[in-house]
Formats: sequence, structure tokens, C-alpha cells
Amino acid sequence: MEHYVLNNGVQMPKIGLGVYNMKPKDEEALIWALRNGYQHLDTAAAYRNEELIASAMKKSGLNRRDIFITTKVWSADLGGKTKQAFEKSLHKLQTDYIDLYLIHWPAKHYLESWSVMETLYKEGKIRAIGVSNFEQHHLEKIMKQGKTTPSVNQIQTNPFLQQNDLHEYMNKHGIQHVAWGPFGQGNKQMLANPVLTEIADKYNKTAAQVILRWNIQRNIAVIPKSSNPVRLKQNLEVFDFALSGEEMIKISALDQNKRGFFDPKNKLFVW
Ligand code: NAD
Repeated sequence: MEHYVLNNGVQMPKIGLGVYNMKPKDEEALIWALRNGYQHLDTAAAYRNEELIASAMKKSGLNRRDIFITTKVWSADLGGKTKQAFEKSLHKLQTDYIDLYLIHWPAKHYLESWSVMETLYKEGKIRAIGVSNFEQHHLEKIMKQGKTTPSVNQIQTNPFLQQNDLHEYMNKHGIQHVAWGPFGQGNKQMLANPVLTEIADKYNKTAAQVILRWNIQRNIAVIPKSSNPVRLKQNLEVFDFALSGEEMIKISALDQNKRGFFDPKNKLFVW
């Protein structure tokens, strides 16, 4: 697995496994993933599966030090509840440190949470601290009022929502871009897009692999989700080919600045 070096020197695997919505029925897939090359798991307190992750890590037989764990503090726990929420995540994940701890959304009191996270970082309980779903103005605020530049901003990024301006700003400030929802939550239109499928055919790859490769060539980390071993394997096999400059430009042209939203009523992602 290749790594990015974060702004504090910590190494983060370029590909992680997104575990949003994973349930106990997915435990075998998680164990399979850990035994077959995944070294980075992206969870969150809000996903309510940190205990499942702990169980899968234990059963995988891997050492804790060989797994990079990202988890996130939920909006309701920002401010005064952050330390307690962090301890809860540690307990559920059955570990004594977190590799990357993120503020899930820039909701009320995120600055107070940041200062709690800076203390936990200094105490060595977190190896790197970062944020998620932050726009430039949130990043400006946190860097102005906090003492630490976030190591990561995890944001929705896919060929239809390329986030070029924010990416450039983050690059300038040494904030690693991590793409959540790289396939637009398995968006069929995206995965069947002719520009992507044509490039995929040329390399004997799939559109999903082209999307992951395109991100990595932009220096973006990816956390695709799957509990299907064929796809899990496919999503790691993106280091044996490279897109040409021309192909990167063709993919750039797919940007629609179109954001997907979670519809809590129907429990669906809508575009
Ligand atoms: P995704 O874009 O990773 O899409 C996942 C879906 O794509 C799968 O369910 C499957 O249907 C399909 N898929 C996976 N591999 C494939 C392949 N090789 N070929 C074809 N189809 C394939 O969606 P996601 O799960 O929403 O995002 C990934 C991760 O990002 C999440 O699991 C979570 O960890 C994280 N995330 C973070 C936030 C945040 O607010 N920070 C929000 C959403 C997701």
C-alpha cells in the first residue's frame, strides 16, 4: 500500500475502506479486507459500528499498529462533550489511540472541539487531527483561532463534484484531501459514464478503478466502500496503471459541481 505523508509526518494509506452503514452481517467482509491489503478503516461515531470494527480487527489477527483508524466526532458531541465522545470511541474501538480523529461536520461549537482535540493530540492519544465537510471559510477560521493546522479535510469528491478550488486551497496549506463517496454512493450514471468506461477499457480496468486512480493522481486519498470481496480487491488494484495527462483532462471535463445529499426520510442518497 502506498502512503501520503500528513503535515505532521504521520503516514496515511492512500486507500482506506469506508465502512458507513456496515452492519454485523458485513463482519466477514471486513475481516477479508484486513487480511487482503486494507490497512486503513474509515468509521465514525455516527456510523454506530465502531464495536464491529474492533471485533473485525481482532479477528483479522493484524496488529493494531498495522491498521490506520479514522473516526469522527458527531455534531451533537461538539463543544463540551468532545472529550467524552472521544473516550467512548476509544472504548468501542478497543484501542488506546486513534490514528486520525475528525470533526464530522462544521456544526456549532466546532472551534471548542478543535481545542479539545489539540490537547488529546498533544497527549499522544491521537496521531493526527483533522476535519470533514469543511469549506474554505471554516478552514480559515480554524487555522486563525486554533494552534494546529488540520492534517486532513475529508470531503465529498467524485468526477461530478471535483472540488478544485477547495483542493487548491488545501494543497497550499498542507491539508490532505480525502475523498468520501468516490463513486457517488455507487451512482450508476457515474460508473457507466462513457468517458470513464472508455478509459477503463483501454487499461483493462473498471470505471470504479479509473475514478480511484484519478483521485490518487490528484494526490487525494480515497475511502471507497464495499463488502463484496471482488470489488474490495478491485478497489485496491489501482497502482499498476497510470492515466495520461490527456485522460486526466478528459475526466476534469466531467465536473458538474453537483453534490449528492442524504435524504434521512427515505434513507437514500439523492442527486
Ligand atoms: P462510495 O462512493 O464509496 O460508494 C459505495 C458503493 O459503490 C457501494 O455500496 C457499491 O454499491 C459501489 N461500489 C463499490 N466498489 C465498487 C466497484 N469496484 N465497482 C462498482 N461499484 C462499486 O460511497 P460511500 O460509502 O458513501 O462513501 C465511502 C465512505 O466515505 C463511507 O463508507 C464513509 O466511510 C465515508 N463517508 C464520509 C462522509 C462524511 O461526511 N465524512 C459522508 C459519506 C461517506
